[in-house]
Amino acid sequence: MKQADPRTARVVIVGASAGGTSAAEALRARGHEGPIILIGSEQHAPYDRPPLSKQVLGSAPVDSATLALRGKDHLRDLGIEERYGVTADDLDLARRRVELSDGTAAEFDRLIIATGVAARKLPHAEGLAGVHTLRTIDDALKLRSALTEASRVVVIGGGFLGTEVAAAAAGQGAGVTIASSSRTLLQSAVGELIGQQVTDLHRGNRVRVRAGSEGRVRTLQSRGGRVSGVTFVSGAPEPADLVVVCIGSEPAVDWLRFSGLAVEDGVQCASDCSAAEGVYAVGDVATWHNPRFNMSMRVEHRTNATEQALHVAERIMAGDRTPYAPVPYFWSDQYDLKLQAHGYLRGHDEVHVAEGDLTSRRLIALYRRGPALTGVLAVGAAKALRQWRSRIESGMNWDDAIGLT
Ligand SMILES: Cc1cc2nc3c(=O)[nH]c(=O)nc-3n(C[C@H](O)[C@H](O)[C@H](O)COP(=O)(O)OP(=O)(O)OC[C@H]3O[C@@H](n4cnc5c(N)ncnc54)[C@H](O)[C@@H]3O)c2cc1C
Repeated sequence: MKQADPRTARVVIVGASAGGTSAAEALRARGHEGPIILIGSEQHAPYDRPPLSKQVLGSAPVDSATLALRGKDHLRDLGIEERYGVTADDLDLARRRVELSDGTAAEFDRLIIATGVAARKLPHAEGLAGVHTLRTIDDALKLRSALTEASRVVVIGGGFLGTEVAAAAAGQGAGVTIASSSRTLLQSAVGELIGQQVTDLHRGNRVRVRAGSEGRVRTLQSRGGRVSGVTFVSGAPEPADLVVVCIGSEPAVDWLRFSGLAVEDGVQCASDCSAAEGVYAVGDVATWHNPRFNMSMRVEHRTNATEQALHVAERIMAGDRTPYAPVPYFWSDQYDLKLQAHGYLRGHDEVHVAEGDLTSRRLIALYRRGPALTGVLAVGAAKALRQWRSRIESGMNWDDAIGLT
């Protein structure tokens, strides 16, 4: 297929959040002069999500303008056509067009898919008052208001979102239980060794942690259409007037089901983040082969959404297929501690604590996959974290890394 001149190509971006907005802006910064149409199903202009489980659930007042990703007229001034409150329903690859919920269609020369993920829901909890999920600003404002009235909160799910929500709820004075079917909190994200320290941190902050079969939810109890408790596979039920379901997410790919693109666990992309000729995916929705780790990955990290968008904008403008080979980065705030990690920690083979622990507020943990150093997680050790990041970047062998500790 003949590709249009990248400078004047018509670019459609579906998903108006961190990835989509960064892609639009980066195209202009790299000299793109043609039409850019940014389509987002939410009514709001693009905003940032990490503060939703942190500042927005805190007791201090929040001004939603501080969550905005860009200044009020910034995208318009760049000549980007913003279409919010409109959902992409279908992609016709042969005709190079996206069908939209308002009955119109957006034709493209290049398409960037940045539709992120949606919160996974608990089956049979639909419509039950007092049951919340957290993905959008509307979810966060509803949850913030519900938290001010709640006295018994059960958070289902012990991943990053669940632990952050539990910390915020505890800070509001509610009695909080986290239920996790894993043996420790954050187990799949950071492993059992560090997960146990995170579990102890929560317990030390008066949060009850139910883990393993004691934390495996059987069903929700209700009275008069409102949640009243949670029952478990083993152990006593927990009374609850507020339940927050944090059981992971699903890539937002339903609209692509009949497009011919491969969409199992996100949009399947090649190393350059292309899913088909002139079609790319970025951010939480994209699975791509990262040559640095020689594995396919999909990462739900804020900085990746921006970096992957910049990479795709560069590929569109350069017309080449340079692979995207980042060392991923994420952070999570747990009470007043900031966990930061570089690399790919999931599915690791070994963890080695090089220094400290969470109690001493200084921790450096290294992660191995195969023969290589593939990740580092740290608290209160910014300089060391940077050094370990460069070692991951250089592909350092595990034995050499351990020799340095
Ligand atoms: C509460 C919360 C806290 C977080 N905290 C952290 C953190 O501390 N550290 C960290 O690294 N990451 C964090 N993250 C993850 C981070 O926010 C995401 O990685 C980032 O938002 C991904 O950006 P994205 O643009 O890929 O997708 P998203 O932000 O999910 O945006 C996708 C957009 O596409 C829209 N969309 C979906 N389908 C369609 C469609 N068919 N048509 C049109 N529009 C559509 C959606 O409505 C949404 O607005 C957090 C996420 C949440 C929810």
